Amino acid sequence: MLRLTLTHESRVGSRRRRFSGGRRRINVAGRARLRFACGMAQKTALVTGASRGIGRGIALELARAGCRVAINYAGNAEAAAEALALVKAAGGDGFMVQGDVAVAADRERVVAETVKRFGRIDLLVNNAGVAPKVRADLLDAGEESFDRLLAINLKGPFFLTQLVAKQMLKQAPDAEGFRGRIVNITSISVYAASINRGDYCMVKAGLAMMTKLFADRLANDGINVYEIRPGVIATDMTGGVKEKYDKLILHDERGITPIRRWGKPEDIGRAVRAIAEDRFPFSTGAVFDVDGGFHLHRL
Ligand code: NAP
Repeated sequence: MLRLTLTHESRVGSRRRRFSGGRRRINVAGRARLRFACGMAQKTALVTGASRGIGRGIALELARAGCRVAINYAGNAEAAAEALALVKAAGGDGFMVQGDVAVAADRERVVAETVKRFGRIDLLVNNAGVAPKVRADLLDAGEESFDRLLAINLKGPFFLTQLVAKQMLKQAPDAEGFRGRIVNITSISVYAASINRGDYCMVKAGLAMMTKLFADRLANDGINVYEIRPGVIATDMTGGVKEKYDKLILHDERGITPIRRWGKPEDIGRAVRAIAEDRFPFSTGAVFDVDGGFHLHRL
């Protein structure tokens, strides 16, 4: 990996910052001065499924950090346009890019359009995902649902990551010395068995393994890979089971989460933003539970 010496002056109060490394010298003072507040100066992100829900929350937090965001969506152009307007209002910039992550030609086009627009991809967030249309008992679950979930929630992210990682490998390291970062949005379903949506649990467990695989493969290339594991988040996806989770989270005596509220898309967005701002440069393959404490084993 190319080693760098970065002289990076910024104004955080009266402090001056210096990052130093090895052989080559790159002065990034001008760029950093432009916008250093969040460390995301001029950075670019591709967020899949950013038109609604968690993806929109992620795009918005990245925008608050001054990032340019490619807002990918599958079919809801109206929601994507709304997300883009919010991103711009929050101080970021970006564009909408339609594409079904399950379709190879769409993945290639999404990456090509993002690179054409931004010149590079500093952050990929594999967020797009679907739940089964019908929750079916494990003994009755059908192949059609299995194939759909596998294609959108696992095969799509895998091959999209492959494409984006190859793009990142061509990029010069950024001001922090990274060629890129990748975040996969999994679920508590990685380890919590729901026997009426086993297909969802199995593909999310696969996505967790995918995080480890890419983390190992890319660590030496200046690309860190992370998994964010959301709990129950209020979005369209959970709209149909609102009463069930209201009871489990808010009304039951103890509640399934120690922090007794629904998660918000912003909760996940803030975690992605922290990664994008390089708060975890010495972590890769790490799992962040953003779940109100659901993962605790309690007695
Ligand atoms: P959501 O509100 O239903 O939004 C789904 C997003 O994904 C939309 O932007 C949608 O685009 C996009 N999308 C769907 N299929 C796509 C495809 N084939 N190609 C590209 N984009 C596609 O879902 P959400 O709750 O925000 O969930 C986002 C991610 O978080 C999913 O991976 C989900 O499994 C995970 N998650 C959610 C929860 C939760 O409680 N909500 C918990 C854990 C994990 P359109 O608007 O164009 O349809």
